[in-house]
Amino acid sequence: MSLAGKTAIITGSNSGIGLGVARELAKAGADVVLNSFTDRDEDHTLAAEIGKETGTNARYIKADMSKGDECRALIEQAGACDILVNNAGIQHVSPIDQFPTDKWDAIIAINMNSAFHTTAAAMPMMRAAGWGRIVNIASAHGLTASPFKAAYVAAKHGVVGMTKTVALETAQEPITCNAICPGYVLTPLVEAQIPNTMKEYNMSREDVVKNVLLERQPSKEFATVEQLGGTTIFLCSDAAAQITGTTISVDGGWTAL
Ligand code: NAD
Repeated sequence: MSLAGKTAIITGSNSGIGLGVARELAKAGADVVLNSFTDRDEDHTLAAEIGKETGTNARYIKADMSKGDECRALIEQAGACDILVNNAGIQHVSPIDQFPTDKWDAIIAINMNSAFHTTAAAMPMMRAAGWGRIVNIASAHGLTASPFKAAYVAAKHGVVGMTKTVALETAQEPITCNAICPGYVLTPLVEAQIPNTMKEYNMSREDVVKNVLLERQPSKEFATVEQLGGTTIFLCSDAAAQITGTTISVDGGWTAL
């Protein structure tokens, strides 16, 4: 599968799943646009390295996905958007009655609203190009819930809902919109939850991973960023041209429980 000649924008891609997906798309030949809210030398170096490794044009564009105008500016600045991967996301864990309002607002803005703004801005470009693929990185939490993650679960269910609507609006065009729903993937977002959980449950790291994090993941293995990249590439392939408005779980059996 060659994605040569396609431009892919991956939000929140200087780390974790976004970075992994960007690498796999570049390996498949796409010119990639990496993004986050920082503007450090290392962000630009990361993109340059991917470009060098894959022989593609890889760029980094700073844009804060918590701000609608910056989401839209990212797409405009990229100048083309054949493949849009809405991936930027954050997490906060708290009981509902103690959930800080600023955390709620930030999660809804970054994890859900950003996908609205980028999709709206990318749609005219996809229509002009006569081809487009929108891949929303939702979560197993877009299909099911866990306690203490009200904002995250609400945002991810929202993304899955928006995915279906965008798919219906583009159903008769060569544009598809789908959501990938990963279970646990060992990225900085998940790594950050381990020390507190070790303290909270007085458990070793190994026990936290197996019995807390992967408790609901029947495979007892993390999904990998490469697997999510591969799933994204499949959704960009001709074989997936009639797959739209749906979710693909990459969760080791979590949602089969
Ligand atoms: P991560 O923390 O490694 O990556 C998050 C990315 O989002 C980073 O590049 C970060 O810089 C970026 N980001 C955060 N705030 C931003 C902002 N305001 N503007 C622009 N970029 C911003 O986490 P990850 O695990 O790779 O998560 C990526 C996505 O995958 C998220 O949407 C997350 O909800 C989803 N997800 C992760 C898992 C998992 O187990 N790791 C499971 C299911 C879904």
